[in-house]
Amino acid sequence: MDSAEWLQARTRIKSPKIKHMLIPEDKVKEITAAAEADLLGVIASSVKLTKRGKGYIGLCPFHNERTPSFNVNPEKQVYKCFGCGQGGRTAVNFVMQYHRLTYIEAIRWLANHFNILIL
Ligand SMILES: [Zn+2]
Repeated sequence: MDSAEWLQARTRIKSPKIKHMLIPEDKVKEITAAAEADLLGVIASSVKLTKRGKGYIGLCPFHNERTPSFNVNPEKQVYKCFGCGQGGRTAVNFVMQYHRLTYIEAIRWLANHFNILIL
């Protein structure tokens, strides 16, 4: 496998052990495909959601609120808070925003979530 096949970005995790570990591109594809197929599941692992109409609604994880305005629509592959405006289209985006991670860290988080072995 040549270097072009490896994702160039490196983790910003401080641990020297994994600092320089790169994730093979096919693994990134496998992980993002799994995340794409289960946007709802990824968000539901962090936010309590209730079915409403075609979508799901819950208390926004990005701002304090008492009445739910955080919406997830698995059909349209989108999540959006109508209170603070935070939203996105992919589970990777959600994990980055919710856990405050870089892209690579989010990929690792999702790999762990889906039990996908990176190495
Ligand atoms: Zn919000």
